[in-house]
Amino acid sequence: MSFNKVSFEETLGKSVVASGKCVGCGTCVVVCPFNCLEYKKGNPSLVKECKVCGICAGACPQYEWSWPEAENFVFGRERKVTEQFGVYRQLVVAKARRNEVLEVCQDGGVATGLLLFALEEGLIDSAIVSGISQEKPFYPVPKLATTPEEILECSGTRYSYSPNILALAEGIKQKRANMAFVGTPCQIRAIRKIQMLGLKKYAKPFQFLIGLMCSECFTYEGLMEKHVREKLGLSLNDIEKMNIKGKILVKTKSEVKTIPLAEAKQHARKSCRFCDDFSSELADISTGGLGLDGWTFTIIRTEKGEELFSKAEKAGFLDVKAVDKDAYALNLLTKLSKKKRKPPKDLPK
Ligand SMILES: Cc1cc2nc3c(=O)[nH]c(=O)nc-3n(C[C@H](O)[C@H](O)[C@H](O)COP(=O)(O)OP(=O)(O)OC[C@H]3O[C@@H](n4cnc5c(N)ncnc54)[C@H](O)[C@@H]3O)c2cc1C
Repeated sequence: MSFNKVSFEETLGKSVVASGKCVGCGTCVVVCPFNCLEYKKGNPSLVKECKVCGICAGACPQYEWSWPEAENFVFGRERKVTEQFGVYRQLVVAKARRNEVLEVCQDGGVATGLLLFALEEGLIDSAIVSGISQEKPFYPVPKLATTPEEILECSGTRYSYSPNILALAEGIKQKRANMAFVGTPCQIRAIRKIQMLGLKKYAKPFQFLIGLMCSECFTYEGLMEKHVREKLGLSLNDIEKMNIKGKILVKTKSEVKTIPLAEAKQHARKSCRFCDDFSSELADISTGGLGLDGWTFTIIRTEKGEELFSKAEKAGFLDVKAVDKDAYALNLLTKLSKKKRKPPKDLPK
């Protein structure tokens, strides 16, 4: 993949940031070789004169995107018409075996279980995940986890945006040679663009990418502050877990309150409307809840993902069962993937 030497203002500034397409993944900020960009209020912002190298636009997941090119790069082929949620090798439903994972994870703890296995086996020396802010409860922040304890602390889902890719800068600074990445479809896509561009310094450390299924992200101010705190009357410090199973479930020690998804929609991030990938179609392994209780629906997509998953299963990190028993989840995956591939009618070009 090649890129043109055009300025940030002419490329991302105009057609991604100003048009509202910017997902705020932070990739451009991390890869700018001249440190011209800073991450401010969820968007890149030019803080020095752009040196017109074009790298930021080349790596941006929202700029000049081609599914066939990306699929050929990752899988060596394009997806077939029948592969409605992307190319894959295996579908399974799985859960982590260790209680320490099951106690803190979102669904079945497959993401955390795989990271722990890979770290213990020495396949990785760190994992880019999403941690929780020290200042704001349930506010997600990018995190480079280097120990099993840190991986466990970052388990579970926060439904507002966490620009995990920003933690790549810390990984590079610490000279981490073998990293795993967990993130949303837009972030997986950004890393694939970094790899396609051949930005070795950033691409080489990644050993595998675990993608999360994602209908949309919500703004913290809208979902957490306005809805959960003000409307539901809950203190954000009391929230133990949030999950989406047909509606948003907000759990505290003493109660479970719910938010209908139709009501939560008003707090969805606007840039998510531009996203056409529900199931992280370019990840090595994709994980989602899909209405399952205590299990993770897992799509094993690449050879690398298959090898990792099979080793983790054999080493006793995961319990696995076949998918056909959970037809509801499979149908939901297909439905949500198809829905996302169709752009909303009122979407600006
Ligand atoms: C914004 C968002 C929306 C989602 N929407 C859906 C959906 O519509 N349908 C569905 O089936 N699944 C959805 N998921 C995925 C689901 O919540 C679980 O993450 C997935 O099932 C894996 O579960 P697990 O128990 O295997 O993960 P765990 O073992 O609990 O690990 C979860 C991993 O996700 C990371 N993480 C947590 N929050 C974020 C965040 N905001 N951004 C990036 N990384 C994060 C954690 O650091 C951790 O590494 C969504 C996830 C996110 C973050």
